[in-house]
Amino acid sequence: MMWPLDPPSVSADDSYRACTESIRDRAAKPGSEGKPGKPARAYRSLLAAAAPDVGAASRRFEIAALGSTLHDLKAADFKVPGFEDDEAHQVIYGRGMVGNTAGRVIYDALMAAPAHERCPFCGHGMVRELDHHLPKTSHPALCVTPLNLVPACRDCNKIKGTFTPRTADTVLIHPYFDRIDNEPWLNASVVHTPDPTLDFVIDPPDSWDQVITNRVEHHFELFGLKRVFGTQANRLVSNIRHGVERLVRTAGAEAVRAYLREEAETRFESRLNGWEGVTFHALAEDDWFCQGRFMDEADLAD
Ligand SMILES: [Zn+2]
Repeated sequence: MMWPLDPPSVSADDSYRACTESIRDRAAKPGSEGKPGKPARAYRSLLAAAAPDVGAASRRFEIAALGSTLHDLKAADFKVPGFEDDEAHQVIYGRGMVGNTAGRVIYDALMAAPAHERCPFCGHGMVRELDHHLPKTSHPALCVTPLNLVPACRDCNKIKGTFTPRTADTVLIHPYFDRIDNEPWLNASVVHTPDPTLDFVIDPPDSWDQVITNRVEHHFELFGLKRVFGTQANRLVSNIRHGVERLVRTAGAEAVRAYLREEAETRFESRLNGWEGVTFHALAEDDWFCQGRFMDEADLAD
């Protein structure tokens, strides 16, 4: 998303050509022992004939993605002429891109794009799979369109599944098209319990309109990011807890605050809306935490 990526440099036409150029015609296969046979398929001429439609579909997708109007697209306009949907993506994507050398080069380059292999949807998981932004099962004409292929972690790819936006408010944040990471929008508050936890919220900057705010809220909700970030933050707090307790006793609350601010600044330099920087920042601005009062709570709870 939320964590932008430079758009791939390879065009839709070049990708389609690379993925289809080595696919051969299929000869008829006779059936045997109750299994039905398969008819011959003239893949070479079918794929060549479909190229202009695939190119046009890719351009329609790009224009809609740029204008955040993916919800207006009709799946019927993203078929591959001469193919059933499943056959189209199994041949063009499955065999042509995942399984073929020329297409595989493009696949591998797309997968390698995110810095530190971080998933652009959650900003946390390791990139493991390519997600079809509009599903290959319903929009097979986009199955090897680079702008429709986004590297993702396994969890995010699974959660997203065949999600297709129906309204402007549910258009997912697209890492190649949406640039929202230049100002802060992620915030958190400290929950005052013996084991302090963090509650993450979207804090929309003034420059956002209602639609982008709703889209980010929806993205946050769909990928369960409140829980993902909360879990990571809890781990961070328990890791620094011992050091913070000692610092409170030896140097006082302002020393704790200075340490936490320094840690937040370092994280913000590389990632303005990362959960780590936001966690340190929220802890630094929380008097209760800086004063080490979670120790009292722990005593009371004993
Ligand atoms: Zn992810």
